[in-house]
Amino acid sequence: MPTGTLHIDLEAIAANWRALDRMSAPGCETAAVVKADAYGLGLTAVAPRLVKEGARAFFVATVEEGLALRRTLGPEHRIYCFYGHMTGDTSTIQRADLVPMICSVEQLTRHLEALPRHPFGLQLDTGMNRLGLKEAEWEAVSEIALEAEPVLITSHLASSDDPESEQSARQLAAFRRMTDGLDVPRSLAATGGTLLGPAYHFDMVRPGIGLYGGLPFDRAEPVVSLELPVIACFDVAGGETVGYGATWTAPADARLATVAGGYADGLHRALQPGLEVMAGKVPCPAVGRISMDLITVDISHLDRDPEAVTILDPHRTVDGLAEAAGTIGYEILTSLGRRYQTSYRGL
Ligand SMILES: *Cc1c(COP(=O)(O)O)cnc(C)c1O
Repeated sequence: MPTGTLHIDLEAIAANWRALDRMSAPGCETAAVVKADAYGLGLTAVAPRLVKEGARAFFVATVEEGLALRRTLGPEHRIYCFYGHMTGDTSTIQRADLVPMICSVEQLTRHLEALPRHPFGLQLDTGMNRLGLKEAEWEAVSEIALEAEPVLITSHLASSDDPESEQSARQLAAFRRMTDGLDVPRSLAATGGTLLGPAYHFDMVRPGIGLYGGLPFDRAEPVVSLELPVIACFDVAGGETVGYGATWTAPADARLATVAGGYADGLHRALQPGLEVMAGKVPCPAVGRISMDLITVDISHLDRDPEAVTILDPHRTVDGLAEAAGTIGYEILTSLGRRYQTSYRGL
């Protein structure tokens, strides 16, 4: 028996892509970021559904992810790789027809030497200081780079999830300074930037997390539910303790259930204290520490023993769980483990 069932709603992912697509100007393409196995939800299921919805451009991190996506999509549609053209990537870039998003002068040299006529894009650093050519580097190499006809120029916003942040406007100004007047399609916005409005959209927006139902897209349709089977139910007497380190003591006689799923399945130990799971419509507090494969919950107040509990559902989203664990929805999604059975709606 798997540790649980991850229900993934492909119709909701499609609806979220459509909603973000509607927000961008008619001439602006809406791509889809499907790195890290589509944020943990399954590249081979998610990408074809987005193609059906109208997506024609996809972003992954590594060329290996690009190759897997190429095998899924076939020869059509553009696949961009955020890691650019690293040592050892050349043959995969060529074979899988990938567009490396060049992010350093070294990579630019490597690409132009190894695959002079192969399409590439450019990443510019407008202040995030993570990947991309800095303004001075861009000045130095832009002529050579532009001669080779890049298919896309991008930059990435560091604080776009916060509409109050002034960093986005500064980055926008830098991006315009570095690219205005060039005859190359431009892209600045991920999910957050798409929500900031048309000034940030340019020729392409490239949302990731919003497709999968996560913040900052607060009007996203929820995408994932997680159901965990109950393995055993039993009684404890008041005063008995539960789990590693005996961190919880039953204040009175109680009935407990031990459910399949633990921190190896992405249910971080940091979710305790305060984690609640749902038995139908009734919340049940998790008690004691979360262990690698198991969570124990207090079901004393239920009429009967549940067969399963849910930990994520349309009302209990990845962001809710993330807040409890002191992290972000992105990390909850991408750390959902490999032991779940996945069940897709709309496959
Ligand atoms: C991951 C990533 C995205 C997508 O970001 P979301 O916040 O998930 O929408 C877009 N661009 C770059 C460069 C990224 O690394």
